[in-house]
Amino acid sequence: MASTGLIWFRNDLRVHDNHSIRKAIVSNDRVLSVYCFDPRHFGRSDFGFRKTEKFRAQFLIDSVGQLRENLEKRNIPLFVFFGTPEDTLPHFIAKHSVQSIYLQKEWTPEETSIEKALRTSDGMQTVIWTHTYDQFLFHPEGIPFDLNNIPDVFTNFRRKCERYATIKEEVRTDDVLPEENLLPNPTQIPTLEDLGFTSFEIDPRTAFPFKGGETEAANRLQDYFWNTRNLSVYKKTRNGLIGPDYSSKFSPWLANGSLSARTVYHKIKQYEAEVEKNESTYWLIFEMIWRDFFKYISLQYDNSIFKIGGILNKDYSWSTDSDLIKDWIDGKTPERFVNANMIELKNTGWMSNRGRQNVSSYFAKHLQLDWRIGAAYFESMLIDYDVHSNYGNWMYVAGVGNDPRDRQFNIKFQAERYDTNHIFQKLWLQDQMF
Ligand code: FAD
Repeated sequence: MASTGLIWFRNDLRVHDNHSIRKAIVSNDRVLSVYCFDPRHFGRSDFGFRKTEKFRAQFLIDSVGQLRENLEKRNIPLFVFFGTPEDTLPHFIAKHSVQSIYLQKEWTPEETSIEKALRTSDGMQTVIWTHTYDQFLFHPEGIPFDLNNIPDVFTNFRRKCERYATIKEEVRTDDVLPEENLLPNPTQIPTLEDLGFTSFEIDPRTAFPFKGGETEAANRLQDYFWNTRNLSVYKKTRNGLIGPDYSSKFSPWLANGSLSARTVYHKIKQYEAEVEKNESTYWLIFEMIWRDFFKYISLQYDNSIFKIGGILNKDYSWSTDSDLIKDWIDGKTPERFVNANMIELKNTGWMSNRGRQNVSSYFAKHLQLDWRIGAAYFESMLIDYDVHSNYGNWMYVAGVGNDPRDRQFNIKFQAERYDTNHIFQKLWLQDQMF
């Protein structure tokens, strides 16, 4: 009997450098694929925010659309459902006699409980599951640490990885399957309205008009590296606040996997060989290692990254003053620099790294508000939300994570240093007096 493999896409929305695709193609006669828009991702979190706001929802719709187009060029159909995987997949798997499922490994509780529910559904017991860790720069099998013994300090993690870990080559996925593999596919990608939003215009002040999808990611990479050569000055510009040039803006594509971290790395190496190699070209790799670091911390500490005491199990007292939280969200605090950043986030789903450091420090350290509420608001709003980077950074800033020095930002000093002429504040606080 011909074998059928199913690729279940989640946060790996790309055809390029995707091991699930490769493995499914080499081991099966027929390859299908599926993506579920899970209604729970558009519901409310424990703190009352929508888990996904319109900016990331639109980005996701675009990403899945491009994924479907790129898969179809390889004669692989992508079936898209608006429903939970537990409700939709068992029936689909039975109907198409799927024997094997290929997917990126996820370990956070929501994802693992869904997988567990699926595995125990009727008819699923004989299905073979093949997981791949495709989200890392340094693959878990190649790092010089036990996965239960990751250093708590970033520098210790980075130095040893840089020295001993290797970064894999990208995997080839350009095979085109026979035309009969492309089954009729009546499923539709939901619209923004289907997900419960109304369509919106991009704010013209946005730092970057993000558009989801693998092709858009490749275009951005081409632009940031070769067209503008901004990569060559990244270390000098990365603390900027306005416009497309100050940083790579890769994070939204990296977060949903429409861009692979390995691809970015190998393109940097290519740039270094063809254009120039300097401190800035290295620094983009350095920052991407932070991304890996927080993934490894989350892998090691599991559920603790969502707990109020964080991975350090700290017993601090936190406020939940709803007026203070609302003022922070609405950009109505006494700190104009905080306000400008928060208004940017509300209007675009984006905030620079410098902004994020400041508003989170102000929330957790100055106002001493429960950091998980700030993290949940970021989760809702950010176009580049990534569970590990978000909760890892929030814990770090709140003093319950990996900051060995437990620092607090001086917001006025930061504003003077990074927004000396108040151009950023004026951009977002047009209705506030200067
Ligand atoms: P660049 O400066 O161009 O950096 C390149 C890449 O390196 C980024 O795309 C990202 O993948 C990685 N990177 C850079 N800084 C960090 C960092 N501090 N931690 C982890 N990875 C990093 N990043 C997310 O991708 N998703 C989140 O949900 C997220 N939440 C955050 C919450 C807080 C409180 C803070 C302080 C930071 C958060 N970050 C998050 C990290 C960082 O702010 C963003 O990755 C960065 O601003 C994205 O812009 P860029 O792609 O232009 O970054």
